[in-house]
Amino acid sequence: MYNYIQHYINGQWVDSTGNETIDVINPATEEKIGEISSGTKEDLDKAVQAARDAFPAFSQTTKEERADLLDRIADEYEKRKDQFIEVIMAELGSPVTFTTNVQYQMGLNHFRTAAKLVRDFDFTENRENSFIQKDAIGVAGLITPWNFPTNQASTKLASAFAAGSTVVLKPSTETPFAAVLLKEVFEAAGVPKGVFNLVNGTGSTIGNGISSHPDIDFVSFTGSGGVGTKIMENAAQDIKKVSLELGGKSPIVVLDDADVDYAAKTAISHIAGNTGQVCTAGTRALVPESMHDDFIQAIKNHISEYPVGDPKDESTFTGPQVSEDQWKTVQDYIQKGIDSNATLVTGGTGKPEGLETGYYSKLTVFTNVKPEDTIAQEEIFGPVLSVITYNDLDEAIEIANGTIYGLAGYVVGNDPEALTKTAKSLRSGRIVVNNEQADFTAPFGGFDQSGIGREWGDYGIEEFLEPKTIVGLP
Ligand code: NAD
Repeated sequence: MYNYIQHYINGQWVDSTGNETIDVINPATEEKIGEISSGTKEDLDKAVQAARDAFPAFSQTTKEERADLLDRIADEYEKRKDQFIEVIMAELGSPVTFTTNVQYQMGLNHFRTAAKLVRDFDFTENRENSFIQKDAIGVAGLITPWNFPTNQASTKLASAFAAGSTVVLKPSTETPFAAVLLKEVFEAAGVPKGVFNLVNGTGSTIGNGISSHPDIDFVSFTGSGGVGTKIMENAAQDIKKVSLELGGKSPIVVLDDADVDYAAKTAISHIAGNTGQVCTAGTRALVPESMHDDFIQAIKNHISEYPVGDPKDESTFTGPQVSEDQWKTVQDYIQKGIDSNATLVTGGTGKPEGLETGYYSKLTVFTNVKPEDTIAQEEIFGPVLSVITYNDLDEAIEIANGTIYGLAGYVVGNDPEALTKTAKSLRSGRIVVNNEQADFTAPFGGFDQSGIGREWGDYGIEEFLEPKTIVGLP
């Protein structure tokens, strides 16, 4: 059992001022694996004060000192590889192979990348007659979701530390234990007291408390659009800066010269990876009308190569949804698809055979989906693919850009001209042409209702800085 009923404030565990706790459930077994404290406003105030007190000294450290600190953090993170994998598997139900190759690795990459980038980062700049100095923004409140427990926190923390900002982190109540491991990493790496503070609790108390706190200068949030709106409303009261990494409904544009098996496998892997609980997942496959039947056949041929099952089994590709609530949401969307004019190709409602315990969904594919259908417009955050046909590339681009989101986009095919035209025309923060390759130095974030601001690399560091222009320096 993982029991953390205290908060980490000013370099030590501190009792909560409240008595309430929140159970944490393993979604593969439906069993309780631990509990956390449901923090109070007083707990948050203490953490913010600790971060405030630590800010003057930490913000004055040199970039070399902070780069060394980030490298030590990455070293300590690597030493705890097995623990991270075990914890993320237990709290999220993320399969062991995905957890090792993606969940664990992404968190590490952010610290290593920030260490490297901050050494060469220009915190000062000379312009025509001005001197520009980039100062750390102050105390940052970090609010993270459950789908990538170390990645989401690490990208924010690496950028904050690189910039010289101090933080209060509130992880998701579904997956709070990876953040406890991060705390151990930071302690071992020598992060000064008060620079990193961890307060557990609900969105309504701690999340709201962060976005409306007068002593927090910046809120960096990853999560749903609805909560993003509330955070902006709260932050507007004292003109607090916000960065919002929100949802998506990303298109996979399959060109008419694409290898149909490759395209179908790409689409399946998007809904199967992390059980479709990926903000950048390609969940709308836009396929030329002439390729439709072959594409659907290829989906049927390959879907069994992505088995749903026990996260501990190395052959498992897809685990359970994170929670019963999330499972019900996904089931409701599958039912909406069935109730529409779309055609169910595979999957459907209910649990896969033999997986009655655990919040498992079936990999589900619909075709004959209209671009305006609910399942083609709203983020489902589960293993559900909508196949939509198009007649020419301009129509494909119009459909691809036809949602409120703009987080990611994918193009599969061979003709360089069509690949380039499509990639450049998609209104999204991240476009992948054929193979998925992560670049941790490149900006990550969304257009439209997918968010405000950018994370990762030097763009991420910039979010935690305030540029100051000085003219007339002697
Ligand atoms: P969520 O918005 O429900 O919760 C995210 C975090 O916000 C949690 O820590 C939660 O406790 C907290 N929260 C809840 N209410 C709050 C409030 N009123 N004020 C402040 N904080 C509050 O999202 P989720 O269900 O944890 O995650 C899924 C969502 O996150 C999806 O929409 C997904 O697309 C999005 N997401 C986006 C990205 C990205 O980088 N763009 C990455 C991962 C997930």
